[in-house]
Amino acid sequence: MTGRTSPAGVEHSGSTVGRVTTPSPLPDPVVRVPAPAPGAPGSGGLVDRHGRTATDLRVSLTDRCNLRCTYCMPPEGLDWLPKVEQLTDDEVVRLVRIGVEHLGIEEVRFTGGEPLLRPGLTGIVAATTALSPRPEVSLTTNAIGLSRMAPALAAAGLDRLNVSLDTLDRDRFKQLTHRDRLADVLAGLKAAKDAGLTPVKVNAVLLRGINEHDAVPLLEYCLDNGYELRFIEQMPLDAHHAWTRGEMVTAEDILAQLTAAHTLVPDVEERGAAPAERWLVDGTDLTVGVIASVTRSFCGACDRTRLTADGQIRNCLFAREESDLRTAMREGATDQELADRWRIATLTKLPGHGIDDPSFLQPSRPMSAIGG
Ligand code: SAM
Ligand code: SF4
Repeated sequence: MTGRTSPAGVEHSGSTVGRVTTPSPLPDPVVRVPAPAPGAPGSGGLVDRHGRTATDLRVSLTDRCNLRCTYCMPPEGLDWLPKVEQLTDDEVVRLVRIGVEHLGIEEVRFTGGEPLLRPGLTGIVAATTALSPRPEVSLTTNAIGLSRMAPALAAAGLDRLNVSLDTLDRDRFKQLTHRDRLADVLAGLKAAKDAGLTPVKVNAVLLRGINEHDAVPLLEYCLDNGYELRFIEQMPLDAHHAWTRGEMVTAEDILAQLTAAHTLVPDVEERGAAPAERWLVDGTDLTVGVIASVTRSFCGACDRTRLTADGQIRNCLFAREESDLRTAMREGATDQELADRWRIATLTKLPGHGIDDPSFLQPSRPMSAIGG
């Protein structure tokens, strides 16, 4: 063979002047590789076929929980994942790193189940906040145990957290969660604020016949304590499949309660991919949000991707398919191969959750096993 092979693997020969062949003084030719289509395996971020890019990663650290919120988990609990199926701390950190370094993840939220039950939580948070580029790192928690853990989480670099609190009435809390732990949750909230994990956000779900009239007391408690309250419409993600559209407390119902007691003015600040519609309360700059996941879905602006505690990628809360990164990782897949699997899993993200569609099927995993 007379030609040479460039470092790029392209064969070429020297130039010919008259009858004399001389070595070319030119550098090796530049090989132009066509730019891959957005979302194609091999490069780029997590782009789906509808043009959305996922930059917000939700990581479930455990499917276990110490509460039994009726809209999430049955009183007897669930069949927990066997330990061997759960990602180890190192495996979680590796996949988060691949998301950040290869796939353009900008925000990481740890959730569950109850993430404070994960023994390695602070180490995982510290490893995530040490990544470059540094993602925003947050936590969604029921706050039981937070009064003890908040300083360590702040020291690990946690930026923010969301605490779930659906009522301030001890009996209703017990009825809703099957546990008498309201005081622990309130102590956890205060500890988060004291540790500087601000703004502390509070997530509330209202249920017909239990806490449906608690919107105003929750708002007033949050305003008084400097917490940002957001109501979330109940979604069909309960383990016992008891959700019905007719029984759901809607965003409209919630706003009717709030406006009967307070003046709400829409907050015109750019909402971006944030799911909460926000209102300024009583002429102040304090806000309340409503996440109308069911009645005014925001799927068109969705920027989320999810990793379950057993290492499955879900491109949507309501996805019926998952992509198994755990097995691939344990069989020796490289970072690049895992990133490609994640990209491919993203391509098929559906345009919307379709809860109102007659053909809608609730996912087989409940919220606690997916990671809310
Ligand atoms: N245990 C933590 C907590 O409760 O904050 C984190 C996991 S929990 C699954 C995450 C969030 O999902 C909570 O704010 C909870 O209220 C919400 N959630 C759970 N089931 C839900 C449902 N069926 N509809 C709407 N939100 C739900
Ligand atoms: Fe546990 Fe959170 Fe589900 Fe309540 S919503 S049962 S705290 S995982």
